[in-house]
Amino acid sequence: MDKKHAMEFQKIYAGISKNLNNKKWKCIINNCDNHSINSHLLQQNGILNLISEDNHVIEVKAIDSFKWNESNSPLTFKRISIKQSLSLNLFCNKHDTEIFKHAETLPLDFNDYLTQILFTYRIICAEIRKKEYNIEIYQRLLNSNTLYGSLPVDNFETFIEGSKRGIEDLRVYKEKIENELNGSEKEFEFKVLKFPLIKVYCSAGFNIYETYATPLEEIPLKYVFIHVIPSEDSLNIILGYNKRLVKKSIIDYVNSWEGLSIGEFELRLTDLFATRVENWGLSPVIYRQLNKETENAFIKYFGENSLNYLDGQKIDFNLFEGNNYGTQQPL
Ligand SMILES: [Zn+2]
Repeated sequence: MDKKHAMEFQKIYAGISKNLNNKKWKCIINNCDNHSINSHLLQQNGILNLISEDNHVIEVKAIDSFKWNESNSPLTFKRISIKQSLSLNLFCNKHDTEIFKHAETLPLDFNDYLTQILFTYRIICAEIRKKEYNIEIYQRLLNSNTLYGSLPVDNFETFIEGSKRGIEDLRVYKEKIENELNGSEKEFEFKVLKFPLIKVYCSAGFNIYETYATPLEEIPLKYVFIHVIPSEDSLNIILGYNKRLVKKSIIDYVNSWEGLSIGEFELRLTDLFATRVENWGLSPVIYRQLNKETENAFIKYFGENSLNYLDGQKIDFNLFEGNNYGTQQPL
């Protein structure tokens, strides 16, 4: 695409994004016609406020509005309000309040099955919504008269098809969780581990590819879920999967969090954030102490591997080197 087209594209893309941000998304619960409100994957009260600074946290965000080649998107650590942290339009006010009340009542009990299921439900719905959002963007770009003839149509269509398939897979999980909520069969298995407090958070579901053929061979794709949740004096890791949709690499992954020394735990967390998930963030206190070299190595790796789900990626940096846990008193 030449410069003129690229500028035209950015303008149209910015317009579409703005439009989509103002779009009233429907509540994601089947047959609910209410508009959705901004739902938080991890609540501010009792989780994010424990690690924020002046109600702000740090997350990795794209600098540019859009890049052709996602692997080259320039990314940066960005300070954001906890109101915006891991949040998107998912449920209507009624459903958001009713369904999640149990998982928002303090003190949180991370060993409680219903709490684990609810955290996981939220992330599954969020992944569906993100894909719906992406489909809508690509569809609108394809429909643009101004951009007609200048887009890589095949790539866009492949992306849309891939996203639709992804939604189908996630709907299998969404339905399974809803079955749990309507009379538990305990089809999900969770493991809860407690570590010393490092001021980070994460709520995500991801796939593990043994090879590039995995997404073609597995229907539905098998997911592992992880919630990294700070409490007053510890960092809680909840790992989960569906017992009927599981494979060895998922069990191995879950077990890989057990029996870690604190140094190994730092590396496990770094690996999670660099190679597996997007939905995570950290305390501004950790960010301030992070050395530039590690920050750059992280951004570079994260940017280049955003679409890489292959197991066994090797990284050679540690975000929490030198006990950088965000727990020191400020000077
Ligand atoms: Zn609703």
